[in-house]
Amino acid sequence: MNRRSDPLHAATPATPDRRRALEILREVFGYTQFRPPQDAVIDTLAAGGDALVLMPTGGGKSLCYQVPALLRPGMGVVVSPLISLMQDQVAALRQAGVRAAFLNSTLDAAQARDVLARLHAGELDLLYLAPERLLQDSTLARLAEVPLSLFAIDEAHCVSQWGHDFRPEYHGLSVLADRFPEVPRIALTATADARTRREIIERLALEQARVFVSSFDRPNIRYLIQQAPGSPRDALLRFIREHHTGDAGIVYCMSRRRVEETAAWLCAQGLEALPYHAGMEAAAREANQRRFLDEEGLIVVATIAFGMGIDKPNVRFVAHLNLPKSVEAYYQETGRAGRDGLPANAWMTYGLQDVITLRQMMAASEADEIHKRAERVRLEAMLGLCETTRCRRQALLAYFDESLDVPCGNCDTCLWPPETWDATEAAQKALSCVHRTGQRFGVNYLVDVLLGRDHERIRGFGHDRISTFGIGRELSAEQWRTLFRQLIAAGLIGVDIDGHGGLHLTEACRPVLRGVRTLELRRARPAPARSARRSRSSTPVETFDRPADRALWDALRALRLELARAQKVPPYVVFHDASLAAMVAQRPRSREALAAVPGIGAAKIEAYGEVLLEAIAAAASD
Ligand code: ADP
Ligand code: ZN
Repeated sequence: MNRRSDPLHAATPATPDRRRALEILREVFGYTQFRPPQDAVIDTLAAGGDALVLMPTGGGKSLCYQVPALLRPGMGVVVSPLISLMQDQVAALRQAGVRAAFLNSTLDAAQARDVLARLHAGELDLLYLAPERLLQDSTLARLAEVPLSLFAIDEAHCVSQWGHDFRPEYHGLSVLADRFPEVPRIALTATADARTRREIIERLALEQARVFVSSFDRPNIRYLIQQAPGSPRDALLRFIREHHTGDAGIVYCMSRRRVEETAAWLCAQGLEALPYHAGMEAAAREANQRRFLDEEGLIVVATIAFGMGIDKPNVRFVAHLNLPKSVEAYYQETGRAGRDGLPANAWMTYGLQDVITLRQMMAASEADEIHKRAERVRLEAMLGLCETTRCRRQALLAYFDESLDVPCGNCDTCLWPPETWDATEAAQKALSCVHRTGQRFGVNYLVDVLLGRDHERIRGFGHDRISTFGIGRELSAEQWRTLFRQLIAAGLIGVDIDGHGGLHLTEACRPVLRGVRTLELRRARPAPARSARRSRSSTPVETFDRPADRALWDALRALRLELARAQKVPPYVVFHDASLAAMVAQRPRSREALAAVPGIGAAKIEAYGEVLLEAIAAAASD
């Protein structure tokens, strides 16, 4: 393997640790280069320092502690909040030939004893534990008896009381600094905000740690946000059929009922969809999660309860049938797509009712003023992201105080620039209709008045005799609804607290009514989903244009599933999609050629080299 010709690392000072780290990366994990700042993080730990790593999902956090744990003498201890996360990580490490184990409640007494025996015999490179287990006196005492390479605290934002993943057990982890002052510690999280960062440093006693902050951009995720004129469900089905046949995906809905209905409906349309929400029995919920992880191509329809334990790397799409409450939530939920770095779609549809519901929630909130203001800012930002005519990614990153200089080219507004129109006059009509009808009616009624529809209710209120009756016939009902949505989103119209959807004017609308402010709004148009196909594809499968490639891809996926089932592990633990896709592209015909496939290290060549080469050869001779 021609390591010396590696241009990136030839220039860096090749300390013995660096060289050894690179060797581990290649031999064990099957990758050729570190992704910055992995190398710098590893240097820090190798030299005995502490680190705090803020990196987006899919950024490559695991290697930041796995490599130095193998590099340094002793065993690495990894604190992980969820059993499913530990199991997958350990299974994946074992596939790579690393001596890893976990200690948790799923082990019976004999299995736990066996892990402890290996710990004392120095036969473990990495041990995964839940914080409560680690903090037991007996565990701490045992750890004090063996050499330790490092402590890694994964999902470190769990220590933050502000976040929704708060776990009180994480607070106790500051004892590690006192009990093991000589063991380097690394905390990792995909949560970016400054407050969480400060809290992690303080609560985990990481004042001395070097802090590594990566860009939170997820370039492989394509952001698609559309207004649904028709039924959102139909739009979802079209989107899945056109782009994600056979792919795993997550569909987020606001309510449990909507989750159940949507899952059942997708199944009736011939897709494999499972529900997941907090109202289900724990066993059924866990079974569905397990199936999602273990099988290929399942869709989970879920409330936001479906989240942190999901480290499946090949979730190819995340769909939202409702608006999330904040940009943070949107970023986090969409971030579960494409962890493996391959193209993935974040698709969302929303409509007038979403905007009204969110506005109502905001108006009805009983939080104190400070929280209310924070809530309002968050909702504004979410609505702003939806209605923007700019690049979605630029808007998204700007929210996290990160700037992207040029439009991304991989979101709906970049791919299909929205048309705008001068909506000032129409807005004036809509606003004055709200005014003349007494600021208490909902959108449907107002649209009827604008269109001059003749019905009893309107006549009953005498609204067939006001000046705005019938002055809006140049637009359709749908167009008026879109306009109302935009006016509500822009804060020119407010929604009443009582929940009936009555609309009123806000201060902000005055300049528009008086004609001193013009309004350029996004023109509604049919869903752009169909044309999505023409631009660069979304999933690996879509990029395999040749039937032979497609056939090999299917064959390799089937082989992977078989290998995974035999070992009772999820398929992605055996190979990532990226490895299979590279095999399709490169068609390796020897063990040496296989070694060049990303993610295929020495242990995997040993275990699977023969069957892989056979499958590739068989496909070639077809
Ligand atoms: P995170 O924990 O930050 O979400 P992971 O550690 O799971 O991310 O890594 C995400 C993906 O990137 C995985 O598929 C992993 O194998 C891959 N990866 C990580 N580091 C590298 C690298 N240096 N070269 C190639 N692929 C990498
Ligand atoms: Zn863009």
